[in-house]
Amino acid sequence: MRLTRRAIVVWVVLVTILGASLAAAVAESGRDYYQVLGVGRDATEKEIKSAYRQLSKKYHPDKNPGDSEAEERFVAVAAAYEVLYDKEKREIYDRYGEDGLRQHGQGGGGGRGGAGHDPFDLFSRFFGGQGHFRGARRGPNMEVAVEVSLAELYLGAGVEIGVSVQAVCEQCGGTGSADGARHTCDTCGGRGMRVVRRQLAPGMFQTVQMPCDACKGKGTVIAHACKICGGHGVVRETRTHVVTVEPGTPKGSRVVFESEADESPEWEAGDLYVEVRERRGANMGFRRRGADLFRVEVLSAREALRGGWTRAVEFLDGSNVTLARRAGEATQPGEREVLKGRGMPVWRGVKGRHGDLFVEYVVVFPGRARARDEL
Ligand SMILES: [Zn+2]
Ligand SMILES: [Zn+2]
Repeated sequence: MRLTRRAIVVWVVLVTILGASLAAAVAESGRDYYQVLGVGRDATEKEIKSAYRQLSKKYHPDKNPGDSEAEERFVAVAAAYEVLYDKEKREIYDRYGEDGLRQHGQGGGGGRGGAGHDPFDLFSRFFGGQGHFRGARRGPNMEVAVEVSLAELYLGAGVEIGVSVQAVCEQCGGTGSADGARHTCDTCGGRGMRVVRRQLAPGMFQTVQMPCDACKGKGTVIAHACKICGGHGVVRETRTHVVTVEPGTPKGSRVVFESEADESPEWEAGDLYVEVRERRGANMGFRRRGADLFRVEVLSAREALRGGWTRAVEFLDGSNVTLARRAGEATQPGEREVLKGRGMPVWRGVKGRHGDLFVEYVVVFPGRARARDEL
């Protein structure tokens, strides 16, 4: 009886140790792909894609020369994307982890479009070009504008925008070919040019080089066009970005999204510039100049002469600005009152620093009500 009990205790201890080391082994054997991409386990395809786009640019070796840690992360981000963006692989990974993928012979790569293991290959499928920032021909930059209210400029905001761009076709990896391959053009022998001999006058000839019609100067042709892009290698796509509007963002300020302009297999995508503009008529009665705010407050002749009034003006941050005169305290038409520190936040300035609010009083005399509208 005593022996048995001891045996049970030993067994329990053993199982506990084994269990702990097993868990540790699982954790060690594979990085968490979700963590690598910084997304939740319930992340949508879109979120996974967008995480890859951001992180692959951040850790690209061209941007971090000599930084082996960045390079490792660049490779890891590509590996995580290849698994999580593939429904089947993601399911296996969710259930059995990286070991499960290995057993299924799907340890990354080999998926759609014959992607393979090369993280630069994946990168070029996303951004065009040859998978590098340097040396690649760059496509044109793009400019769009986003309009926000003055309150959003005051408080700061994250504004989601959708931008329609030309994107490298995911299906064919930009080749335009259904099987992913391009073949040498028979007409020009792959040179992309053909030589035409023209007779200018009897006995006078001129040879001219022209782009090959059959391959449009590319030197290669495809047997069957990709069904998704119709052989163009690119598609139109609406991409969402979140524009961070910092408190006090100045007029005409631009936010840059690197390599998010039109893509092409032939170049590396240029940058997307988003200009932040104040939306007309969305200022709650405040006008802005730099970090200062201006407001016109209309008083009746009675208020101006006798005082004894209080007004709570709704401010941009939801609070109230209180304007008041004691009884018997007159206000001159055109009088200006300065409320120190009630203006816009100073952009990228010391935290808590604000411009001023200038209130100008306009007095409406009886019978001149129209004047109010004109001010
Ligand atoms: Zn295609
Ligand atoms: Zn040709």
